[in-house]
Amino acid sequence: MRFLALLATFSLVLGAQEASAEIRSKALAIHHRLFTLDTHCDTPMRMSDRWDVGVRHEPGKRTSGTQDLVRMKEGGLDASFFAVFVGQGPRTETGNQAAWEKANAVLDRLDRMFAQHSDLCGRATTPAEGKRLAQAGKRAIFLGLENGYPLGTSVERVDHFFRRGVRYITLAHTADNDLAASSTEERDRPDGGLTDLGRKVVARMNDLGMVVDVSHISDQAFADVLKVSRAPVMASHSCARAIADHPRNLTDDQLRALKKNGGVIQLCILGDYIKPPAADSGRRKAERDLRRRVQALGGWQNLKDPKVIAGFEREWEALIEDYRHELPTVKDAVDHIDHIVKVIGIDHVGIGTDFDGGGGLRDCSDVTHLPRITEELLRRGYREADLAKIWGGNALRVLEAARRVAR
Ligand SMILES: [Zn+2]
Repeated sequence: MRFLALLATFSLVLGAQEASAEIRSKALAIHHRLFTLDTHCDTPMRMSDRWDVGVRHEPGKRTSGTQDLVRMKEGGLDASFFAVFVGQGPRTETGNQAAWEKANAVLDRLDRMFAQHSDLCGRATTPAEGKRLAQAGKRAIFLGLENGYPLGTSVERVDHFFRRGVRYITLAHTADNDLAASSTEERDRPDGGLTDLGRKVVARMNDLGMVVDVSHISDQAFADVLKVSRAPVMASHSCARAIADHPRNLTDDQLRALKKNGGVIQLCILGDYIKPPAADSGRRKAERDLRRRVQALGGWQNLKDPKVIAGFEREWEALIEDYRHELPTVKDAVDHIDHIVKVIGIDHVGIGTDFDGGGGLRDCSDVTHLPRITEELLRRGYREADLAKIWGGNALRVLEAARRVAR
């Protein structure tokens, strides 16, 4: 009897494994069939004369980064917004000038990427261009400006970045700037939301058909943008605050406002936004220690020596790797998608990984792991049509809607 019971359990387990393998292969097939778009990564930060985005780097090595154009193809990722990122610095004429030069230097590097690797990728500025590139088997690279700081005090510079191919601007980053208040600025009084200059910038972006990215900005700024924007907006990399209480995430009320606006929230798979680490975790302690040492030198924004900055950045990366086992999982990330879908439906959610900018989960730390998200969604009952929306359909609709209000 005992033997028979054992046998029965054994075949049950085998059966479950078979079903699991079946879902996995179905997920892979769907994932590679869909047009897939990631609306936020910081891979341009990694690109240098010594690190070529057109060469395959072995996954899992510290120097490999999360993705390159070759691995993106392996991971079935057709399109990605490469962020032109400029960290917030002093809001002075010299600071603004330096930010402007930095943004243009990153764009120059991206121009060189498009020229050197035209066999692997192409510049996409519209959904149609993105789809065409994907059909040709090339990665479609869209550009987004992460932080409006390089605009300085000039609305005209919006036109400049549009001409250079930028299709969204994240108004602010981790600290307040001249356009908008940041969600992570430490302050003891209510913030000013969207500034007058910010309003003009949003209006100009609407005129040009650029998408306003509401990730990183404060709740007040978020509300202000929704009031003035003539087009649907995008949170290019944010999660649900009801699931993980972090100021970078959106509340249910904000989600509902986003739905009303016709916009989209693109799930960010960065650990702290998915599930904050326990206060006593090794990672938290290591983070605190690193932060203390940066603070002792006046904080990130006041670091001047590029060698010191690079050293701290390397330490930060190493820390993420060392404590990867403490990171949340794909299941935790998909809990956010479930929640968002429950609150505002399937038409307003997508994915913006923040790869190479801190994004990555315990079981999804490389672009080649992305099909695992599709697999988990499939397990939870999402259909292929739903997956098509999550993996790009919704974000492309917002890009198209922004283009329609252009004048
Ligand atoms: Zn960011």
